[in-house]
Amino acid sequence: MDVIVAGDRAGLVKAKDALGPGRLALVPTMGALHEGHRSLMRLAREHADHVAVSIFVNPLQFGPNEDFSRYPRTFDVDLDVCADEGVGLVFAPSAEEMYPPGSQVAVSSGEMGKNVEGAFRPGHFDGVLTVVLKLFNLVQPDVAVFGQKDAQQLALIRRMVADLNVPVSIVGAPTLREADGLALSSRNRYLSPADRMTALSISKALRAGAAQTTPSKILAAAKAVLDAGANLDPPLAVDYVELVDPRTFTAVDDTHRGEGLLVVAAKVGTTRLIDNTPIPPTP
Ligand code: AMP
Repeated sequence: MDVIVAGDRAGLVKAKDALGPGRLALVPTMGALHEGHRSLMRLAREHADHVAVSIFVNPLQFGPNEDFSRYPRTFDVDLDVCADEGVGLVFAPSAEEMYPPGSQVAVSSGEMGKNVEGAFRPGHFDGVLTVVLKLFNLVQPDVAVFGQKDAQQLALIRRMVADLNVPVSIVGAPTLREADGLALSSRNRYLSPADRMTALSISKALRAGAAQTTPSKILAAAKAVLDAGANLDPPLAVDYVELVDPRTFTAVDDTHRGEGLLVVAAKVGTTRLIDNTPIPPTP
């Protein structure tokens, strides 16, 4: 069956009618779809009768000096990917549709939205939560699937759904990686072969950290790999490496007993990459 493309609320109503009854799963994306997105679509299919994908590069979640205007846009290829994955509906609204003049009320991501990634991208998570809540209200899915690759985003969406009583089930999906460990990302297409070699320091640092047992050793091992990355050509420029509590995204120390999450953000040239790995509780 062909993918039905909707660009506004009226189109969505018609498209959902055409899909027919059954549970609907939504996979929100910014397009430039890759295998990681495909894995989310497949997981969505396991949870619902119909899969919808939204494609929207959300201006609200980009800072003034970030890559909004040069973010990759590959709509026609994305549609083929969706058709290939059996997606029934693609929602691709314009910025004007999502943010008509006069919009001013938004979602606040609270303290968790200011930690770690939020400290480097002020306002980012407010923009993410605002667009995700709008997408939920427009598409009205039963289930929505998000990647663990953006772990703080996933944790905040779970928080928003709980705190604001949003009637949707959230499913988290594991991070898909290249054979050499690089996490798939739409931004990887900016990387030259040399950049890509440097970028591998990130997943290598996560693996080195995860092989250790205490928070201080985990951090030290990850930092050692990232420091080595800073001496490569091109160099890795680390924004942060932290071991956090995955429920709050606050840093943990050696007294911490529960689950941890080792998180990294770093730039290679002008390309900023993020990655993370779960750390099981200390025995
Ligand atoms: P994006 O288009 O980058 O906003 O990502 C859309 C969704 O795909 C988000 O829920 C991401 O967490 C998820 N995603 C991005 N990269 C990966 C990956 N390598 N593996 C699994 N999910 C991913």
